[in-house]
Amino acid sequence: AALYKIDGWGAPYFCVNSSGNISVRPHGPETMRHQEIDLLKIVKKVSDPKSSGGLGLQLPLIVRLPDVLKNRLESLQSAFEYAIRSQGYQSHYQGVYPVKCNQDRFVVEDIVKFGSPFRFGLEAGSKPELLLAMSCLCSGNPESLLVCNGFKDGEYISLALVARKLALNTVIVLEQEEELDLVIEFSKKLCIRPVIGVRAKLRTKHSGHFGSTSGEKGKFGLTTTQIVRVVRKLEQVGMLDCLQLLHFHIGSQIPSTALLADGVGEAAQIYCELVRLGAHMQVVDIGGGLGIDYDGSKSTDSDISVGYSLEEYAAAVVQAVQYVCDRKSTKHPIICSESGRAIVSHHSVLIFEAVSSSVYEAPALSTVTLQYLVEGLPDEARADYNNLYSAAIRGDHDTCLLYTDQLKQRCVDQFKQGSLGIEQLAAVDGLCELVSKAIGAADPVRTYHVNLSVFTSIPDFWGIGQLFPIVPIHRLDERPSVRGVLSDLTCDSDGKIDKFIGGESSLLLHELKGEGGGGRYYMGMFLGGAYEEALGGLHNLFGGPTVVRVSQSDGPHSFAVTRAVPGPSCGDVLRVMQHEPELMFETLKHRAEEFIHQHEDDDSLLNAAALANGLARSFNNMPYLVSASSCCL
Ligand code: PLP
Repeated sequence: AALYKIDGWGAPYFCVNSSGNISVRPHGPETMRHQEIDLLKIVKKVSDPKSSGGLGLQLPLIVRLPDVLKNRLESLQSAFEYAIRSQGYQSHYQGVYPVKCNQDRFVVEDIVKFGSPFRFGLEAGSKPELLLAMSCLCSGNPESLLVCNGFKDGEYISLALVARKLALNTVIVLEQEEELDLVIEFSKKLCIRPVIGVRAKLRTKHSGHFGSTSGEKGKFGLTTTQIVRVVRKLEQVGMLDCLQLLHFHIGSQIPSTALLADGVGEAAQIYCELVRLGAHMQVVDIGGGLGIDYDGSKSTDSDISVGYSLEEYAAAVVQAVQYVCDRKSTKHPIICSESGRAIVSHHSVLIFEAVSSSVYEAPALSTVTLQYLVEGLPDEARADYNNLYSAAIRGDHDTCLLYTDQLKQRCVDQFKQGSLGIEQLAAVDGLCELVSKAIGAADPVRTYHVNLSVFTSIPDFWGIGQLFPIVPIHRLDERPSVRGVLSDLTCDSDGKIDKFIGGESSLLLHELKGEGGGGRYYMGMFLGGAYEEALGGLHNLFGGPTVVRVSQSDGPHSFAVTRAVPGPSCGDVLRVMQHEPELMFETLKHRAEEFIHQHEDDDSLLNAAALANGLARSFNNMPYLVSASSCCL
């Protein structure tokens, strides 16, 4: 656990159990020992058709943990409730979940259900997100907010107005000044009185990677001049009472409470000014930004860490709003936040398998081969070889390195000119590798091939270099002995993971034993519940993983798989790119019948019917690697 810093990034949800496996503590700090869920047991249950009740589903796998999700929501709520109580704040906290962080139906439905007792709502940033938020909130608390952000057209605004008509507590937040005309026009047309918010472009700037949306030149929000114009226009049309919410978002992963308090304080000033100008203000919506400590370092100057707890975050927000409002004698507003990352990151674990690793093969170089090699070398290369030989005898490492490089380069040049045979070039490579290994200059880092697509499942690593904790989920009672990097299935040189938390360029891993050697090697990517699924692409047509929902259960096992959805099949991903798998299958089947009948061979196992069967299974299976025993053809 210490080696992989699990206590740093994983507490209170992940720990190492006495079998050396990672266990989930589904209720966070309130989890009892017997409630802990061993991740390896989940993998066995889901993937092994032979284990009792095994589902026989393919990896990679996303394990969703609704108990963790519930604990995150409740922890955020109680952090604010505690701050409000202890500071004597005169209103309440009422958060919303920005569905863009993970739009999965069951994640959103769970959030609405778990958050209903404390009026937790949703935030949408596009028309489909609004549609899903509207339908999910129908079964939620009627007081829960439905915050409509993002760029809007007349259709988006009409939908949001209809949502209000359906008694959903909807707020249309103006991201651009032009949206106001549409809101006025459509609300008149539909005879629905809107509740309006404005998104302010704050001067406070978050300088990390995720802060590019903040500051005066940020992409979103209204400047103070524009906000004043919005107030004037609303006043003219008799709708100033509709303006009730002030929103801002200075970026995700806010590194420190000092920056947070600075931004919240600035927004609170604008809020008070809007009250002074006659708007019927009710809510200050502080956006997202509540960060996650991906590497457990509690650092305030890194994009992947934050220097505060949930409690410290809530205390800083409440204090900053209260301070400004008290000085301006303004009634305390409802505090809303749009935390996404902090709510959903922990609740899902991506599990994948390392299927092979590159191994160092000592080249077989007999004295005869060596003699043949040396004799066949051109004069200059032979001189390099002799110098290398003497340096090796002397134990002069630097000179050895110099001559291995020189010999190799000269031989490659000769090969390109056609004057050196492929066997000789291979022998030179082998010799240089042997020498490098002997003098300790060989690269000790191995490549572990993982049955995964980085582009589909960890897109932020590829896109913005974001690091996530990646750790074997078992064998943690054995000391790992190999340094490795991970290489995925895609035919793309970016499909690799060679940076890890702690600034490491390789990860300590265990030697693979292979299926015959007593085991598979499973690894987990943690804290990826936000953004990764929503951003993932279809590079090389690798679709999403299998998803299972696992709840803590007090039955004979500590867990129950309450939903299992296999990942998209080859047919499914082909369909996304407009192919028609049914037609493709018929074409191939027809071809098989034609071809195999023409060349019918009684001894062949491959008759047309078996071939068609195999093809059908290939369309139905996931695109990821399967073991030889499950091969369809
Ligand atoms: N609200 C808005 C307007 C956002 O743009 C974002 C994401 O960047 C969020 C909320 C969620 O932020 P976070 O995931 O940092 O909580």
